[in-house]
Amino acid sequence: MKVCAIVPAAGGGVRLFPARSKIPPRESKVFISVGGIPILARSLIELSRVKSIDRIIVALKVPVKAHFIRNIKKRFGLKKVSCVVSGGRTRAESVRLAFAKVPRAYTHVLIHDGVRPFIRPEAIERLLREVKSADGAILAKPVTPTIKCVGPANKILHTVDRARLWEAETPQVFKRSALERAFCMFGAKELGATDEASLVEAIGGDVRVVEDPFYNPKITTPVDLDLAERYASSTAGPPRVGIGFDIHRLVKGRPLYLGGVRIPSRLGALGHSDADTLLHAISDGILGSLSLGDIGEHFSDTDPRYRGIRSTKLLKKVLSQLRDSGFRVVNVDSNIMLERPKLGKYKKIIQKKVARLLGIPPRSVSIKAKTYEGLGIVGSGQAVACQVLVQLGK
Ligand code: MG
Repeated sequence: MKVCAIVPAAGGGVRLFPARSKIPPRESKVFISVGGIPILARSLIELSRVKSIDRIIVALKVPVKAHFIRNIKKRFGLKKVSCVVSGGRTRAESVRLAFAKVPRAYTHVLIHDGVRPFIRPEAIERLLREVKSADGAILAKPVTPTIKCVGPANKILHTVDRARLWEAETPQVFKRSALERAFCMFGAKELGATDEASLVEAIGGDVRVVEDPFYNPKITTPVDLDLAERYASSTAGPPRVGIGFDIHRLVKGRPLYLGGVRIPSRLGALGHSDADTLLHAISDGILGSLSLGDIGEHFSDTDPRYRGIRSTKLLKKVLSQLRDSGFRVVNVDSNIMLERPKLGKYKKIIQKKVARLLGIPPRSVSIKAKTYEGLGIVGSGQAVACQVLVQLGK
């Protein structure tokens, strides 16, 4: 089973911004953050966590796509997002444009609304199991309210038997061939289809509902957005913090790296790797906050693979473990303890570099520099030391 996901996200959020007649593309609702993470990014993060999905195609409004997607891909390590197409005027049109970009090798296509940010990988796995013996499967919930059929003058005509009614959600997943046949047979307008399942049903396909036990709302109105914000904060769990410390001897004939930046200096830091004291402390802080041990356990200083390695590479490996855990760095505070050279003019450069390495904004990285007033091993210029605090969030 090879699954390609399509995420239509070109909608303007007309109901979310009712006061405006025309929404500038950058204000499209998928860019609004819920719990500090853009709505679209949340959907993409959860889809990325499903093993059998190995490509995600996003349909976005053209003027913003490159910039926005580049940023969130980097910030959240979304390697599976490989293709962005310009969305159509309607959701159905966007899905068709994206479908045209699905490589032939994919046996199944999964479609998920970019505005359902709380989708759970467990629910998607259920769906993928069901579609193995069908043409399609969709997440849905049995209808629980009493449903009235209403005529002119708001007069109730009858009460609908809800026993067989289900409310369709996304994702919806289909055998590629079934979806292809449906698209060939029908234009979206002909059926007034609001989802892809309707098309596959209409060609006689076997499409099944899979009950979604989780909260998976479509964010459409300001009330939805407010509820989503509350839900996100209630499920974020407590933040985690980690402490990092490192110290390296200063010697002649070695470079001095701090936060991935080479600092001009008469003395450099001695070590098995490039001895970047700040990045070692940050890596240790991240590992510490996840209770995953220290960098010595992960990258032994007797392992020839790590001889002379840049610490930026070690940090990348730590960050990939961080992503697997579902956490992300919220902010980093640091003290660099070094007698000379004075770091004043390098602090901003280090801050920017560390922020870029961590994929977070520079304002979330604090770099402070201290001397030891001539006291002890740091004060006598024999060593450089760093301490950091790292805060993680979900
Ligand atoms: Mg070290």
